[in-house]
This record gives sequence, structure tokens and C-alpha cells, in this order.
Amino acid sequence: MLIDIMRNRLIGALMTLALLFGGPTHAGWHKQHADVMGTRVTVELYHADEAQARQAILAVLDEMHRIDAEMSPYIESSQLSRLNRDASRRAVPVSNELFSLLRRSVRFSEMTDGAFDITFASVGYLYDYRQSRRPDAGQIKAFVDLINYHNLVLDDRTRTIRFGKKGVRIDLGGIAKGHAVDNCIAILQRHGIENALVTAGGDSRLIGDRWGRPWTIGIRDPRSASEVIALLPLVDVAVSTSGDYERYFEEGGVRYHHIIDPESGDSARELQSATIIGPDATTTDALSTSVFVLGLARGMALVNRLPGIDAILVDSTGNMHYSNGLESARNPDSRVNPSTDPVAP
Ligand code: AMP
Ligand code: MG
Repeated sequence: MLIDIMRNRLIGALMTLALLFGGPTHAGWHKQHADVMGTRVTVELYHADEAQARQAILAVLDEMHRIDAEMSPYIESSQLSRLNRDASRRAVPVSNELFSLLRRSVRFSEMTDGAFDITFASVGYLYDYRQSRRPDAGQIKAFVDLINYHNLVLDDRTRTIRFGKKGVRIDLGGIAKGHAVDNCIAILQRHGIENALVTAGGDSRLIGDRWGRPWTIGIRDPRSASEVIALLPLVDVAVSTSGDYERYFEEGGVRYHHIIDPESGDSARELQSATIIGPDATTTDALSTSVFVLGLARGMALVNRLPGIDAILVDSTGNMHYSNGLESARNPDSRVNPSTDPVAP
């Protein structure tokens, strides 16, 4: 599906180096930024009626706040904090929504050979990127076995979660923003909106087009916040970028950042950024984090196996790599055999 979108609609402008944002304001278009979920949220949409447009934007921001209140590890009253407090001792009931997202998280763990694993937080909580604090080798060794999604016991009948070991912690930072973006797009569609972009940090989803042209999403240079290394003209897709530049500190020339390899309990260092394009933002969010952990060879192999998913990866030396679907969109003469090896969603 995406490959068709790429062929028909990407119009070969992948490597253009000018940002197309800005320009004249167009009647009916509305844009708002807000800081929610510890990140920058942007909503941009078309609605002929200004009051209804404003209402739709407020509904989106309310939804972001609602999800933050349920899923943030920093809010003591959130369902997620309750799980981290109690689920090692007993099965804890959660909402349908959270249960489904946890179920989906486990499916992404299975699909990625454990690269995506929300129990990374069992070690991840020992990092404090603002304070340049990290666990020492002894602490990692003591806790790393707690990182294992098999330590999550999900009971579909009672809709409860139990942690199989004491000390297990979870964090939905690698998937909750994508989920929020998907919910917000559904809300906008219920408001009758057909052209919109919702972005939360590195996760975006767009519907329809923008002023009759594709939306343009820029991928930033991982080593320079003001530089764009690729522009993606996109219609009706989601796109997520995971990078080692969002939350990090350096020590002895080593970058300690927020994407943790579940095998080592240390930051994953094969890539500088991973951008995933796909049908929905929950998928692209989880896969961008996963592919970042998997690295170039294993990450790209996974992407090329998944129908409807494409990727742009920046390796540790700053070189860019494109998935088969994007290579053939950039260069229609290249002969790439589309994979026929589907992976369960
Ligand atoms: P993203 O920017 O979407 O890649 O999300 C990064 C966030 O995902 C981090 O800040 C953590 O909260 C979480 N995270 C880090 N490592 C992992 C992992 N291996 N699996 C799942 N989530 C992770
Ligand atoms: Mg992600």
C-alpha cells in the first residue's frame, strides 16, 4: 500500500533540501502548538468554520492530556504508575484502552525479537539524562534480567496485568505518543475533518493533503538541530523518528541516550536516527524505537519484510539508508523484489 503511495505521490522529491513550511496563510487552515506529554504537540487542520476548527483543536489537546494522565510514569495517579507500584505483588486491573496498548506492545516485542520491550524501564529508570546519571555495570548486571516482556502476565478475561518478577517496571514512552496521535486523528475525523496533521514529538500522522499538495515532513540532521537531511512529501500516512539526540548526555566521549537495548541495558548505538513510515502512528512509533535498537542490518531487514512499512536510517557515521520501497520510489529503474513474507500486525 505504502509503496503505491510512494510511487504515486512522493513525486521523487525525497532529497530536496528546502523547507516548504511557512508561506501565506490560507483561509480555513488552523495551526496550534502546545506542550503536552513532555513534548511539543502540533495540530494543523482545515475546517471552513473557525469555531468548529477551534473546538476540534481543543478536543485534540484534551485527548493528549487524558492519555498523559493515564500513561505517564511521572504522574503518581496514572494507571501506569499504579502498575509499577502494585503489579509485582498482585494482578492489577486496567482500562480496556491500556490493556489493548499493553497487548500491542507485547506483539511488537514478539515481532522485533525483543528489541521493543516496555520492561526496558526495569533498568531504564536508573538513567537520568538531565542530571547525567546512569547505572554502573554492577547495577545493570543486577537488573538486566528483569527486562523481558515474558515477565508481563496479561489476563484477557479479567483485563489485569501482573509482573512475573519483583522489580519489573514498564514505560510506554516508545509507543504512547503514537497511540495518542492515532486517537487524535480519529477525533478529528469524527469532527468531519479531512485534512490534518497531528504531531507529538517525533510522531506524526496526516490525513488528506495540505493546500492541495502533499504534506511535507522534514527529517532533521541527528547532529544539527537546524539542518534537514530529507523532506518527505506524504499523504495519508504516519511517520515517526527515533533519535539519539532527544534525551542524552555524554561521558568520556560516549553518548548515553534514552533508547535502551534490552539485551545490554545500555543505549543502542548502531544508528543516529530511525524514521519509519507506515499506516498508523502506534505502529510507526513502536517500530522506530525497535529499528533504532536493532540497528542497520537487522532493522532494515525487518522493515523490508513488513508490508506497508518503509524506513530511512542514519547510521553512526551519518550516512542515510533507504528501505526497498523508498529506493524504488527514488529510483524507479531499480529492480527491487517486493517481499512476500508477511508478518502478523
Ligand atoms: P521514541 O522516541 O519513540 O523512540 O521513544 C523513546 C522512548 O521509548 C524512550 O524515552 C523510552 O521511554 C522508551 N524506550 C527506550 N528503549 C525502549 C525499548 N527498547 N523498547 C521500548 N521502549 C523503549
Ligand atoms: Mg517510537
